[in-house]
Amino acid sequence: MTATAPITQDLVTIPRKAPEGPLNLVGLSRDAMRDAFLAAGTPEKQVKMRVNQVWQWIYYWGVRDFADMTNLSKDYRQLLSDNFVIRLPEMVSRNVSADGTRKYLVRIAGGHEVEVVYIPESDRGTLCISSQVGCTLTCSFCHTGTQKLVRNLTPDEIVGQVMLARDDLGEWPERGGPKNETRLLSNVVLMGMGEPLYNFDNVRDAMKIVMDGEGIALSRRRITLSTSGIVPEIARCAEEIGCQLAVSFHATTDEVRNKLVPINKKWNIEALLGALKEYPRLSNSERITFEYVMLKDVNDSDADARRLVNLIKGIPAKINLIPFNEWPGAPYERSDWSRIEAFADIVYKAGYASPIRTPRGEDIMAACGQLKSATERARKSRKAIEAEAARG
Ligand code: SAH
Ligand code: SF4
Repeated sequence: MTATAPITQDLVTIPRKAPEGPLNLVGLSRDAMRDAFLAAGTPEKQVKMRVNQVWQWIYYWGVRDFADMTNLSKDYRQLLSDNFVIRLPEMVSRNVSADGTRKYLVRIAGGHEVEVVYIPESDRGTLCISSQVGCTLTCSFCHTGTQKLVRNLTPDEIVGQVMLARDDLGEWPERGGPKNETRLLSNVVLMGMGEPLYNFDNVRDAMKIVMDGEGIALSRRRITLSTSGIVPEIARCAEEIGCQLAVSFHATTDEVRNKLVPINKKWNIEALLGALKEYPRLSNSERITFEYVMLKDVNDSDADARRLVNLIKGIPAKINLIPFNEWPGAPYERSDWSRIEAFADIVYKAGYASPIRTPRGEDIMAACGQLKSATERARKSRKAIEAEAARG
């Protein structure tokens, strides 16, 4: 990375055309759904009940067809299907790793693609979702950060990832059957592609739907948002979403963090720690997860480990050590295993949980930081072939 490398790339703004045809109900807040139902001719005194009914059909039962909403009159079902649709992004492919990790490629409007990863563990199932196509930030160790094309996902595209995964896992309750208490998909992490705090409103609206008790009903304690450190948005995240927070810390000096996470030039370690100190109180949550990618000879020394525990003193924290996941052309190497363990030991002895994240789904390129859309990869390799041909 050179000194002139940009901290961010431009966001591709897709002109927001007036929606053609019927409005998609997925992704609307309860208030927005209410307004839409009123505009379509629902009597004012019925509208609250109608929103509750339709909300439950969509988000509790996973129904996609108005004809299946059996507690609504035929006429009302007709009104709904004349005016609205229930539309999810399209699942284009699904890969299952030898370790059970599933990677979904999801196509959104405009033909862009994002990746979604489901990670089953003994006590939970975690879905890693994306908030943007690509990322405007350019962290030097992250594959997503090298992707040029970027746009924000809309709320329906974000909540749609959770719904598609529930479809694939067969997790919607069976009508008439016993109440299904199993939760194959019990946790959501915003750790896929994109910087969620740079798409704040859409991420918040989508998470409100995922947390709503009448629908998917995941508790805010089971949702973790990972940020590279967009300081002004951290307090908003506490107040308006209230989920768990993870932060991509990755370095213990500004000099190194500027290189790894260039947004550090805008909000440095001191500013970031200031915002993190306030987070547990504002969000009434427990610990903050400090993510720390282990890069050989860059940020993995004993001195780094000691600096790290000094810096975070006073913040309820757990430190998640992530062995670097290599990708083709990456400018770093993964730290040796013995080095990672020595680092973890120092952190642990200072009183912090220091789990080492086991790379999952490596055989299907599903590991953290390896996500990049297949179209982008294909475009790149096409370019390489063309360049090769041009050279003769
Ligand atoms: N943009 C957000 C969330 C997505 S990245 C953020 O940066 O926090 C999720 C996590 O994976 C972050 O901690 C990120 O730094 C880390 N990561 C990115 N590339 C990685 C790689 N190649 N190996 C290991 N972790 C990586
Ligand atoms: Fe974006 Fe996060 Fe990757 Fe940085 S680590 S480029 S913020 S996705």
